[in-house]
Amino acid sequence: MISLKRNSKGELVDAKGLRSRASSIYSPNQAEDFKISRSKFTDFLLCKKCFYLDRVKGLASPGMPGWSLNETTDILLKKEFDKCREEKVPHRIMKEYKLNHVVPFQHEEMDNWRNSLHHGLKVRFKDSNIILQGGIDDLWHDTKEDKLIVVDYKSQASFKKVSTEAYLQGIYHQGYKIQLDFYAYLLQEMGFQVLDTSYFYVCNADRAALDFGGIMRFEETLVPYQWNCDWIESEVESMISTLNSPKIPESNPSCENCAYSRERLKQL
Ligand code: SF4
Repeated sequence: MISLKRNSKGELVDAKGLRSRASSIYSPNQAEDFKISRSKFTDFLLCKKCFYLDRVKGLASPGMPGWSLNETTDILLKKEFDKCREEKVPHRIMKEYKLNHVVPFQHEEMDNWRNSLHHGLKVRFKDSNIILQGGIDDLWHDTKEDKLIVVDYKSQASFKKVSTEAYLQGIYHQGYKIQLDFYAYLLQEMGFQVLDTSYFYVCNADRAALDFGGIMRFEETLVPYQWNCDWIESEVESMISTLNSPKIPESNPSCENCAYSRERLKQL
C-alpha cells in the first residue's frame, strides 16, 4: 500500500520514518514508567523485531486508513448499551440469549476505560516500570455471580452464518482471543472478579441482500469465549527482556513486508 505523509491540514510533507515524541520511545533499562498498549503487546507476539524497531528505535510505521464502517457499528452499539446502562436494564441481545440477569456495567471510569488512545484499563506489571493498558469496547455485569463480563464488538461481512466453533477457530480470529485474554488479565489485576465467559458481539453484514437501498443489514450473534490469561505474564516478562536488550531480535520469516523490503533493496 502506498502511504503518503500529510500534516493536520492534509498537505503533503516529507516522511521521516522516525517518531519524534520521546515518551513513545523506550531506552533499554530506563527507570521511568513506560506504557505498552494491548496492540503493541500483540505486535510483540507477532514479530519481536518490528516491536523493537518501533518501541526502542522509534521507527514510524506507515499510516493505515481508519476502519470507519466498523467504527460506526461500535459507536452505534455503544449508544444502545449506554442507554441500557443508564436505565440499568438488559440490552435486547441479552434478552435474546436469555441473559436476563446481565446488564451493562456502570462505573465512573467507563469512558476512560473505553478510550484506547489516551487511557484504557491500566495496570503496572508486577514491580516493573511497564504500565500495561488496553481500551475495552464494553463490560457487562453478571448480577447473579456479581462478576464482570468482558465484551468486544466485531463487525464483518461474510456469506456464512456466524457459529461459535467456526468463529473461534478462524485463523484471523486468534488475535481477537488474545485481546479478551489481555483485558480479563488487566481487570483481574485491577481487583475485579471476571466471569470465565467473555463475548464477541459479532455484527455480520448481509452480503446476500437483494439490493442496497442505502441500508446495510447485519445479523448479530453473541459468540461466547472462555478466556485464559495463564500465558500472559510469561510473555510480558519476555517482552520486557526484549525492551531491555541492546540487541535487535530476529524477524518473523512469514512476514510479507520484510520479504518485500528485502527484494526491493535488491532492485535498487
Ligand atoms: S518481519 Fe515484518 S513485522 Fe517483523 S520486522 Fe520485518 S516487517 Fe516488521
